Amino acid sequence: MKFSRLFIPTTKETPNDATLASHQFLIRGGFISQTGAGIYDFMPLGKIVLDKIRNIVKEEMDNAGANEVQFGFVTPLSLWEESGRATTMGNELLRFKDRKNASYVLSPTNEESVVNMVKNRVNSYKDLPLNLYQINTKFRDEARPRFGLMRGREFLMKDAYSFHSNEDDLVREFNLMEDTYKKIYTRLGLDFRVVEADSGAIGGSGSKEFHIIASSGEDTIVVCDSCSYAANIEAAKRAVKEYNFGNASLEKIKTPNCKTIEEVESFLKVSKEQTVKAVIKKAIFEDGSKIVVFFIRGSDELEETKATNSLNALELIDVSEDEIKEAGVVAGYCGFVNLDVNFVVDNELKDSFGLVCGANEENYHFINADLRTLKDVKYFDLVAVQEGDSCSCCSGKLSYTKGIEAGHIFQLGTKYSSAMNANFLDENGKAKPFVMGCYGVGVSRLVAAVIEQNHDEKGCIWTRETAPFMVDIIVSNSKKEEESKIADELYNKLKEAGVSTILDDRVNARFGFKMGDFELLGFPYALVIGKKLEEGLVEVVDRKTLEKIDVKLENVLEKILELIK
Ligand code: ATP
Ligand code: MG
Repeated sequence: MKFSRLFIPTTKETPNDATLASHQFLIRGGFISQTGAGIYDFMPLGKIVLDKIRNIVKEEMDNAGANEVQFGFVTPLSLWEESGRATTMGNELLRFKDRKNASYVLSPTNEESVVNMVKNRVNSYKDLPLNLYQINTKFRDEARPRFGLMRGREFLMKDAYSFHSNEDDLVREFNLMEDTYKKIYTRLGLDFRVVEADSGAIGGSGSKEFHIIASSGEDTIVVCDSCSYAANIEAAKRAVKEYNFGNASLEKIKTPNCKTIEEVESFLKVSKEQTVKAVIKKAIFEDGSKIVVFFIRGSDELEETKATNSLNALELIDVSEDEIKEAGVVAGYCGFVNLDVNFVVDNELKDSFGLVCGANEENYHFINADLRTLKDVKYFDLVAVQEGDSCSCCSGKLSYTKGIEAGHIFQLGTKYSSAMNANFLDENGKAKPFVMGCYGVGVSRLVAAVIEQNHDEKGCIWTRETAPFMVDIIVSNSKKEEESKIADELYNKLKEAGVSTILDDRVNARFGFKMGDFELLGFPYALVIGKKLEEGLVEVVDRKTLEKIDVKLENVLEKILELIK
């Protein structure tokens, strides 16, 4: 392709809200263009990259035996009412009405569509398993669309859904999808980790996420330094820490102005671990809300996703001082003894005693509080694993790393098939709901993720499989006939050899400008045809290292083939 014929509107301007390198460089490189909040157009170079990623995903899904389909981007709201998600999806689900006043949604995901497609068409266990996928536009009215393609409202996702007659077969497919995803991210040239993930309200026994390791990642991943354990912090576990604080009787102590754990710690001369922290939140449910107190060790932090799951709530929000008072909770002095508000206690505090907690009275704490004296306590895993904690698998040290979620696979079970009455007949002729799995890849997010992991201060550095072109032939001065002629010859030679090449033949662009574009656009190699041509030499520039080597004109093809091998 000739640069002069390709629409590549590079610019020096960076949008004000572009904090991530990928967002800045994809805009500046003319890969994408923003048209609204979280809505992007792909320009020619961006479209080439998007399609390369899409093709790899398609090839690997096809290899795994999945069938490609395409669901309507618009689905009737009635399908979402059948599954129950019309009420649980919240504001991310964009609804609208047509001229006949019928309600529709823009698909944020397609469990309902796929169940609707398969229902009454697959009737027997003999027709299972089945895995259907599409690579199609999604719309989620995200509360905070940001970071360019990373968190858009409209984005491209590969979503697959599998159907099985039993759990074992679902697990087999789930493992096959894990392997398939590993192949995809490996082919894309990415450093990634498979991590245990939160299954949220979907439930089910297994859920794994695929994270591209990058310091700008929005997710915190907990990894073990000595075994392969890795989990999203929302789901991470640690080895339980044991404490013994002695077994004396409950006592109320005056603790003036000791509202924080630190104040209690220093006033009563106890360790943080011996104190109990109360975190007060408002839990939002489908049919209302309530104030809930979460009790964790004073040295721990609450993990909000875990806390939300403990209640099966839609979300947790902060509460105002007035709301706390109204609920009858004494802020700063809230404890589990004689508390008349819903509360959940962290698993690690189960049956603990000798604890210090608020006395539910201004300026007072209890010492020697004993959870064993309470009836029907709801225990749940509530805490965020901290760096330095011990691994529950091998007792190695846990630490944090940052990741970009590029894929998520779920064992769904029968949630959607049951809700939507989608059944098959088993070996005994008995009707049963399909056992399902679902599997997503963030195709457009990956365009950004590749750059988050591969860039420098000058611009993009595409990986082999994602580069829009492998080689950029830069004609130093396109007005010089000899340079242009040699460049043309090299261009044809490389093309014939199957190397994807762009020829920067722009007559009115200076050499420095062309080099700047090469660095910004991130093609893996440049061939500079310039002054050294008189000595029969061409310069090969490696975009990653920016190293330059002189190569004899007659050896250029050989050299390039060797480099890209
Ligand atoms: P996140 O936690 O980042 O919001 P999610 O859990 O909502 O992601 P899934 O519903 O599992 O995501 O969707 C499958 C994949 O689609 C994700 O792994 C991610 O790569 C991609 N994805 C999800 N939301 C967006 C978005 N707003 N913009 C771009 N890609 C997205
Ligand atoms: Mg999301």
